[in-house]
Amino acid sequence: MTSEPHTSHADGLTGLGVSPGRTAGPVYRMSPPPTLPADVPPVADPAGEVSAAAAALRFVADELTRLSRQVAGTASEVLDTEAMMAVDPTLADAVARRVDAGRPAAWAVTDAVAEQQEAFAAIGGYIAERAADLADVRDRAVARLLGLPMPGLPAPGEPYVLIAEDLSPADTALLGPRVLAIVTRRGGPTSHTAILAKARGLPAVVGCAGILDLPDATPVSVDGTTGVVSVVAAAAVPEVREAAARDRARLSSLTGPGRTADGRPVPLLLNVGGVADVVADAEGVGLFRTEFLFLDRTTAPTVDEQARAYAEVFAAVPGKIVLRTLDAGADKPLPFLGLATEDNPALGVRGLRVARDHPAVLADQLAAVARAAAETGADVQVMAPMVATAAEAAEFAAAVRSAGLPVAGVMIEVPGAALRARALLEAVDFVSIGTNDLSQYTMAADRTNGELAGLLDPWQPAVLELVARTARAGAAAGKPVGVCGESAGDPLLALVYTGLGVTSLSMSGSVLPAVRASLAARSFADCEYLARLALDAPDAATARRAVAGSVAGAAT
Ligand code: PEP
Ligand code: MG
Repeated sequence: MTSEPHTSHADGLTGLGVSPGRTAGPVYRMSPPPTLPADVPPVADPAGEVSAAAAALRFVADELTRLSRQVAGTASEVLDTEAMMAVDPTLADAVARRVDAGRPAAWAVTDAVAEQQEAFAAIGGYIAERAADLADVRDRAVARLLGLPMPGLPAPGEPYVLIAEDLSPADTALLGPRVLAIVTRRGGPTSHTAILAKARGLPAVVGCAGILDLPDATPVSVDGTTGVVSVVAAAAVPEVREAAARDRARLSSLTGPGRTADGRPVPLLLNVGGVADVVADAEGVGLFRTEFLFLDRTTAPTVDEQARAYAEVFAAVPGKIVLRTLDAGADKPLPFLGLATEDNPALGVRGLRVARDHPAVLADQLAAVARAAAETGADVQVMAPMVATAAEAAEFAAAVRSAGLPVAGVMIEVPGAALRARALLEAVDFVSIGTNDLSQYTMAADRTNGELAGLLDPWQPAVLELVARTARAGAAAGKPVGVCGESAGDPLLALVYTGLGVTSLSMSGSVLPAVRASLAARSFADCEYLARLALDAPDAATARRAVAGSVAGAAT
């Protein structure tokens, strides 16, 4: 069974809105990968075929390296890794063997990549996931050898809505300024597509069945909040864009702290991975993901180096900063830790658990944070990822305090921690709910698996109940309960969370104005009513529809 949440309505297609905003434009799909002709030509010049394959792979590597220089962070790393794969001597040897066996260059590359993909799959885990990168290398090399268009982004010569099965990190890294919005058939709320679209402020809908049935150039309107994609008349496109521009102008005219219409404060904080993500318009940082500083490291960063990196971010943030200690493992592999390969890495040694075998990594990080906080005078709070028990929370809080840092919290990402939130809150000063992982673990659905988008939906009543339970525990303890998963940036869920008693919301800077406006238009009692609607709904889609319908009804 797959869990495609997608439904089709007479008025359009519906998927998961994962990055808010409206726009309209013609759809264009990713260019499909090249297909090999049915007839395999004979090999007249084996040496020539081997050198043609090598030249094509070198071309692919050079192209990927060039593209990597245009982007930063994880995106650049993904492209560099792909470039290295393209010129891996093992691949070259395998290609040569296939040519010797009578296969022309393009076929030899295809077979050799298939062989390597099988080997990767057998190793499992993170390595197995690299099989998709190899497929990209193969498609690019085969296109080069056969003189076909490079697979990847279309170039229609006009602004367009990009449609695709799903986008790889390499694709998302390369989106140009002409992309108005993204709609994918697969992909989940925490997929690369969602995170990157939000970072760029592009409306995005994932898990949208039927989107690939639309021919290229079909004009559509896209609503990244409701997830509705509708076919429209070409003449209506400018109208939708103008209305969207008016929406944006209205949103950006609202400034100031987050609060409901009746003045209940809901601080709006930022999720950042570095200084580039800090925007002036927020009340502080609710999630500083420190692992981004270390993703490409093969040796442990020194306390000095870390202190410098943290101080740079601390100095750029006006309000409080919640720094998360390293969240290594599973979807965030950090080579310098040399973590063992595991059968189920998402359930393995990750997050705070890494500190069991590497206590010095946590101690060094806390020492560096304390130094940077002292140097900059910033209001720094520290929290741990992937905490499962009250004992872990207490141990972490003790480590934070003994490093001289006054405020310690933990993330609620594991259902066991949400169920025991009261006990955890006795040990720490605050908690922050990571709905990306909380959804994954509550629904037993791998967050990197786009097929499971429907289960991963943070509107799932089971996930909302755990958020509600955690918020109640916070209220009882008189301690803050934030949400810092991607879902906090959903203007409708932000209302629901507020109604459940969540005390702050942390999100990417680009979605903050929409959340601010959404809160400003409703009273706290409205939010409580919407929270009840969502909690009482039998499933995620009904919950979203009920809340969206009530909000739209109130607005008219
Ligand atoms: C989360 O799990 O919701 C979260 C904010 O952490 P990350 O996405 O970095 O795992
Ligand atoms: Mg997490």
